Amino acid sequence: MKLKLTDRQTSVVVRLAIIGLTIALMICGYNIWKYLQPHTLSKPTRNITLVTTKYPIKRTQPATPAPVLSISVSKQITYRVPILMYHYIRIVTNPADRLGYNLSVTPQNFAAQVQWLTENGYQTFPLSDFCQGKISTKGKPIILTFDDGHNDAYTQALPVLQKYHQMGTFFIISHFLNRPQYLSTAQLAGLKAAGEELGDHTMDHVDLANESPTEQQKEIIGAEQSSPVFAYPSSKYTQTTEQLLAKDGFLCAVTEIPAIATNQSPLYQLPRVRIRGGETLSEFIAAVEGKI
Ligand SMILES: [Zn+2]
Repeated sequence: MKLKLTDRQTSVVVRLAIIGLTIALMICGYNIWKYLQPHTLSKPTRNITLVTTKYPIKRTQPATPAPVLSISVSKQITYRVPILMYHYIRIVTNPADRLGYNLSVTPQNFAAQVQWLTENGYQTFPLSDFCQGKISTKGKPIILTFDDGHNDAYTQALPVLQKYHQMGTFFIISHFLNRPQYLSTAQLAGLKAAGEELGDHTMDHVDLANESPTEQQKEIIGAEQSSPVFAYPSSKYTQTTEQLLAKDGFLCAVTEIPAIATNQSPLYQLPRVRIRGGETLSEFIAAVEGKI
């Protein structure tokens, strides 16, 4: 049977077809538009704990897995602390002793530096505190370190620190104790009794990077002091040294890498600001403030 449509019926069919086609095109267009929208992430299914420090308390707490943080948070620097590096506090009398000269701050300059720090709101605190994320809140935090355990640590540095109610971290070479120009056992005890922090600088000031793991271990353990902090002799070390220090319970280690330490500094590669001696007070201030 042949279907014959009137003009009116044809017109209705054509209109319905156009409407149907329009709806189909709209649906299709909507799907294409939706597909082209930027993809949004679904909400995280768990809470993320933000931490302000990466420093764990290794001696008193078992290691816990670090929370997963986004890259922008994990690279955030929340504090900067200058760790100053001193050696001798003395007057070099031999003009030919260039090495000695470059390692020596005069007692007068040292007193002026500590006075300036104190008058400008700096507050010293132990390196071990920094390595556990405990930062001095009394003022601008700063750490003073003294390498090698020379006797002027007791005769020159200590009186100045006490006068200004500041403190230092002294790195001791255990086999050098009681030698000429080095701390005596009694002076070492005096530093400790005065509340100064005592750290490990090996037994013999060896180049750890050239020692076997066994020898490194001996040098590290044999010179352990009251605070579990370490200074690499001449800033020489390897990854093995770092691993041994961590295994032996040391919280951190300082190097001679020149920079201001932050909460992001690697714990076993902490940078320091070298105070050579001979700087003007302005140069000292610029070094402390990270301007040189
Ligand atoms: Zn040294």
